[in-house]
Amino acid sequence: MDADCIFCRIAEEKIPAQIVFSNDEFVAFRDINPQAPTHILVIPRRHIPTLLDLEEADEALAGRLLRTAAAIARAEKIADRGFRLVENCNREAGQTVFHLHVHLLGGRPMSWPPG
Ligand code: 5GP
Ligand code: ZN
Repeated sequence: MDADCIFCRIAEEKIPAQIVFSNDEFVAFRDINPQAPTHILVIPRRHIPTLLDLEEADEALAGRLLRTAAAIARAEKIADRGFRLVENCNREAGQTVFHLHVHLLGGRPMSWPPG
């Protein structure tokens, strides 16, 4: 737990968020500034700043993170029509919160390439 990290504080329920899923390893909540009809952030409870900080010992966690996002897509009923997962890493990708998170976006057609 990093007391200065907004996502650690959301995971600890010290600041409010619309939590859609939670277990002992991950928390998922609606993005405060949604970019699609469904825009959910899936985070590990553990404070991991970026994708670059994942280590070999975290490979199972990384796999479960993806499967958790897929399960939430099903629960949100966007799985069959399609959805997108985004992981912004560092400045040029637009990462603003340095606690690892996967964006789950859906509910509208997605364009390619991404902006
Ligand atoms: P990044 O740009 O780091 O990939 O994504 C960070 C995301 O976190 C942004 O989409 C932003 O809207 C969202 N966000 C930032 N602060 C909060 C907050 O306090 N609550 C929620 N629910 N989302 C937040
Ligand atoms: Zn954190």
